[in-house]
Amino acid sequence: QAQSARLYTEEDPVVILSSDSLKQTVLNSSSAWLLQFYSSWCGHCIQYSPTWKALAGDVKDWAQAIQIGVLDCAHEKNFDICKEFGIHFYPTFRYFKAHDTTNDYGKTYRGADRELQTVRQLMVNFVQNHTKHDWPVGCPPLDPARSEEILSLMGKKTEFYTAVIVEDEDSYIGREVILDLMPYEGLAVKRALSSDKLLMEKLGISSVPSAYLFYPNSTHTVMNVQKRLRFFFSSFLKLLPGVHRKQSASSLQRPQPGNNGQGTQVEWKEFEKSKVYMADLESGLHYLLRVELATHKTLEGEELKTFKDFVTVVAKLFPGHQSVVKLLETLLEWLVSLPLEKIPYDAILDLVNNKMRISGLYLSEQVQWVGCQGSSVALRGYPCSLWTLFHVLTVQAANRPDALANTGFEDDPLAVLQTMRRYIGTFFGCRECGKHFEEMAQESLNQVKTVDDAVLWLWRKHNQVNARLSGSMSEDPMFPKTQWPTPDLCPTCHEEQEGLHVWNEQMVLTFLRQHYGASNISPKYSS
Ligand code: FAD
Repeated sequence: QAQSARLYTEEDPVVILSSDSLKQTVLNSSSAWLLQFYSSWCGHCIQYSPTWKALAGDVKDWAQAIQIGVLDCAHEKNFDICKEFGIHFYPTFRYFKAHDTTNDYGKTYRGADRELQTVRQLMVNFVQNHTKHDWPVGCPPLDPARSEEILSLMGKKTEFYTAVIVEDEDSYIGREVILDLMPYEGLAVKRALSSDKLLMEKLGISSVPSAYLFYPNSTHTVMNVQKRLRFFFSSFLKLLPGVHRKQSASSLQRPQPGNNGQGTQVEWKEFEKSKVYMADLESGLHYLLRVELATHKTLEGEELKTFKDFVTVVAKLFPGHQSVVKLLETLLEWLVSLPLEKIPYDAILDLVNNKMRISGLYLSEQVQWVGCQGSSVALRGYPCSLWTLFHVLTVQAANRPDALANTGFEDDPLAVLQTMRRYIGTFFGCRECGKHFEEMAQESLNQVKTVDDAVLWLWRKHNQVNARLSGSMSEDPMFPKTQWPTPDLCPTCHEEQEGLHVWNEQMVLTFLRQHYGASNISPKYSS
């Protein structure tokens, strides 16, 4: 068990199968399956596992059509099932059609090329090999649409968008984008071929691949993406207003509004996603100081040290209103001046709420989520503001190298991240989140050597969390969890290498330093 748990874990986007679950999962399933039968002692399987995980992550949204699984034949429990399935070599790749009840053992893929892009295209071909009788439930057609069908959309009002990817016959982009958008509602994606000259002419398309978009209000135009790559097309479509992830059965059972202390919120506030809002940062600080920490009667020992360090980092780096920064500085002076080993939290609250207000130092008590507002009060809000706060702080530490002078944190590239780690582990109300964050910190925080590394580390880890939570209950359907920044925010951050999306980290760093920099923080809606 320990062996197989090490090669693939529940954290990976693959479905881990065993003798108990194999047949009932892949036979007569509503989707097709591609399985890797591996052996945890096989060196090649070990080396190949990162590719398999990357592939599974890349096609996570295709699950209604085809899913990726693994089964460890070196596990004692699986000896018999691997024998029954005739697995002689590792890894063996088998695919299983949707709705197949014949109890067969799948078809083996014997190709020597196991590169991610090749296997992904194999998956597309395999899905397309179904007939209309066994077509995977929920999977849209993958064959090219006829020109009449597309041209009939011109000038027609509809309830949803239609995107048409126009491409050469051997291109996979169209089918990949169709599959990428499968879990989303509010749009239909089709593909058409560049050999359809009439269509090309009518749509005014001269080079492929291109995408054409029909809006619900009957207007239509060529889709303007910065790079004509699968990721850019898919990302553009997922972000159209009115397009969102379909609610799964589990996400319908969301926690009741109002049960996580996010206050009440009714009015929608217009905001730009290219900006950071001071109102979110201040609301987050308010919630943290007056609600989250206030559940602790007294602070002592490690807790008190964590709180002091947190106040130090925020007081020195928070690019906020004068009155808020002064309040934090006064709080810090007070904490440092007290020789006490134990502080009742009421005393801190009294200072923040009453004493400082007399001198005009004031942190709003109103919760105003703007960039962090959710489509319901139970979604987004505080955890969103906490991420935002820490991204701002890592960027401030990088942009203002002297800000932490004489605090004990000078020249420490890890000052913000270690403080965040301890705050999250000690006080953050979401215990599971704290546990996950601690695991990530233990794994790689020691690789951070500079303040720029710290900015990028937090960005990378936040994206790791986004990937894990995508499609989960804590996802707001209006704000799907994506790998961020999306191409519309930072086109130069994205590149493609051998068919797989890759980040240009230098560009990401430049973008983060601008996005979370003081001059990009909007005062709109803040007190
Ligand atoms: P958030 O993920 O909160 O992001 C807020 C904003 O930050 C986004 O709107 C975007 O503008 C920006 N952003 C997004 N990604 C990045 C990035 N990679 N780099 C920089 N900026 C980015 N919830 C769980 O269910 N399980 C967990 O284990 C979990 N762990 C968490 C750990 C921490 C430390 C924190 C602070 C929160 C955690 N949460 C967890 C909560 C979860 O991550 C979200 O904060 C919450 O679901 C609200 O999501 P959101 O849509 O507002 O976006």
